Amino acid sequence: MWFSAILISTALLEPVVDMEPVFWHPVPRQALVTAAADSSHSFDVRHYRLDIELRMSDAGYRCHEQVAIKSNVSLLDSFTLDFAGLVCDSVIHNGRAVQFDTPPGYLRIGLAQPLPGGDSTVVDIFFHREPTAPQIGFFFAQPPAVLHAHAMTCGCPRDNHYWFACWDWPADKAERGCAINLILPDTFQGCANGMLDSVTVVPGGKRVWWWRHPYPIATYLMTFSASRFARWDTVVTTLNGDTVPLIYFMWPRDSAATRTGYRLVPDMMRYFSAPDRFGKYPFERFGLVPGYYGFPWGGMEHQTQVMIHASYIGGGGEAIICHELSHMWWGDMVTHQEYADVWLNEGFASWAECLYMGHLNGRGYFQNYIAGKARQYFTQHRSRDFPIYNPPWSEIYNYGIIYCKGSWVLRMLQFVCGDTAWEQPGELFRALRVYADSFRYGTATTENFRQIVEQETGRNLGQFFEEWVYDRGYPKFRLFWSKERSGDSWDVAVRVVQQNDTNSRQVFVIPFPIQINCLGESIRVLADIQDSIYTARFRMLREPVGITPDPDNWILDSCYVSQVGVEELAGEVKVNQERVGIICNPSRKGIRLECFGGAPDIIEIFDCGGRRIWFFSREGNGYERMQTVWLAVPNGVYYVRAVFCQQEERLKVVVLD
Ligand SMILES: [Zn+2]
Repeated sequence: MWFSAILISTALLEPVVDMEPVFWHPVPRQALVTAAADSSHSFDVRHYRLDIELRMSDAGYRCHEQVAIKSNVSLLDSFTLDFAGLVCDSVIHNGRAVQFDTPPGYLRIGLAQPLPGGDSTVVDIFFHREPTAPQIGFFFAQPPAVLHAHAMTCGCPRDNHYWFACWDWPADKAERGCAINLILPDTFQGCANGMLDSVTVVPGGKRVWWWRHPYPIATYLMTFSASRFARWDTVVTTLNGDTVPLIYFMWPRDSAATRTGYRLVPDMMRYFSAPDRFGKYPFERFGLVPGYYGFPWGGMEHQTQVMIHASYIGGGGEAIICHELSHMWWGDMVTHQEYADVWLNEGFASWAECLYMGHLNGRGYFQNYIAGKARQYFTQHRSRDFPIYNPPWSEIYNYGIIYCKGSWVLRMLQFVCGDTAWEQPGELFRALRVYADSFRYGTATTENFRQIVEQETGRNLGQFFEEWVYDRGYPKFRLFWSKERSGDSWDVAVRVVQQNDTNSRQVFVIPFPIQINCLGESIRVLADIQDSIYTARFRMLREPVGITPDPDNWILDSCYVSQVGVEELAGEVKVNQERVGIICNPSRKGIRLECFGGAPDIIEIFDCGGRRIWFFSREGNGYERMQTVWLAVPNGVYYVRAVFCQQEERLKVVVLD
């Protein structure tokens, strides 16, 4: 009797270098409040005007807010805004003080006269922030902690109501935009969303910075910053012929460094706004301002004025800047309707980031970059996985799932739509521009997006969305192949088996590209995978020497390739939900065992006389992740006993000549 055993450790096959994750967003601080500020949302926010007077010597300020609302009910006699950590001093409507109260988290206002349905009105709210209030949404620091006193806001996803009274959900944009007027000591500069209309001098050594942004804006995208800033401007002319002002604020010492750090912004703007890519830049300007104290993240896509972590302003922030710039289309112009749809923001921006980084650095870099995103997702998947749609509130900015897998869903959609030419945007991009036009300056849901892509590409994407958006996980393929001479040509048999994890669906239905490498040439075929086992045969004119699954990495999967004897693929493939499977039973010339999901504690193989002919123990062999056993044995009947976590499985194998 003789045998040989080959153990394949999957650890040896997996890439070991992972990219450092960059967290673009905070983990949402508070638990999801299921009831919005006003559950019926009986009004529609039209515009916010904020006149904020900051002392810049402490974290306190005063604000006169004017909120314009439209009634959505027949008679609106009161309304409620999100409001926390602030003190309301008075509320004026139609020239007279009106009643208000502040139950925890809210500001409830009684109108002077009921507002008929469809009518609009403006309510004046006077409030202030105590210097000692917790720094949530609004952050203030001063020397010696920082070089210059610095006030800034960053309230994504739902913290902006800690610095002004607002409807703090994305679904109701202020459709006429916002006007943020910053009243500051005259040694400070202020910036906010939109364009600077003017700077005026007021008594008491102060100046007012009048910022105007007349575009629809979701509350979480509103921001201002104030410090002893320097500023420089430039303009970029896009391929559409539009000129877009670029306005940057930074501390004076960083001014020169930002000339280097921001040098690619015009190129990014031209790239994304190309007529065949995302199309016209949607706002009146773009710019960057550093986030520092209280801002531990890479960047935040405040509308027209992105906040970038101070450590990136001198360089090395290209991925973050292009990610945030792409949010101006995906997130700011078209905003997710609910946080359930957050991947429409973050998956899109992460995909756009991959595209630009590939454009900048070439195709090889791009392949590494997207492989890094896949690894981030696989790592997350191993500990916990959930669909990119409707994540738990605490996970809406999960990097591996929402960002990385989200970006891969767009990449796979490109593939499914046949939009695969390198740097030549095609059908999916055209559908994206229709999606942009359909929901321009509004909000959209995942289903809105699916319907537009289906309509524009003529494809039914129900199954794709079911697998990749509404369900979790990814396919783990094993590809077995064999070759056999047949006259002047060669026959290649291919079998692709899905061995998906328990936290993935059992079967992904997906077109899967395979490259058969022959001496002197290679051909590509598309495996139309419809089930847990796919088999196909191909006749090649030259001798096949190998198979490369998914050579351009279009599918978010893992795939291990094994060449096997031609006899093995002639038999029946047995795959089950057990921890150990016999591939081909009956088999020829030997036994192939597959261990699903980690090494067993013990495997023993007995012949029909009860003699143990082979033995494996994880401890004894030191293989933590053994996956495959190939054991050449004479023909006969054999019994396999496997033990996982004290649970025993027994299998019978028949080996033929
Ligand atoms: Zn983002």
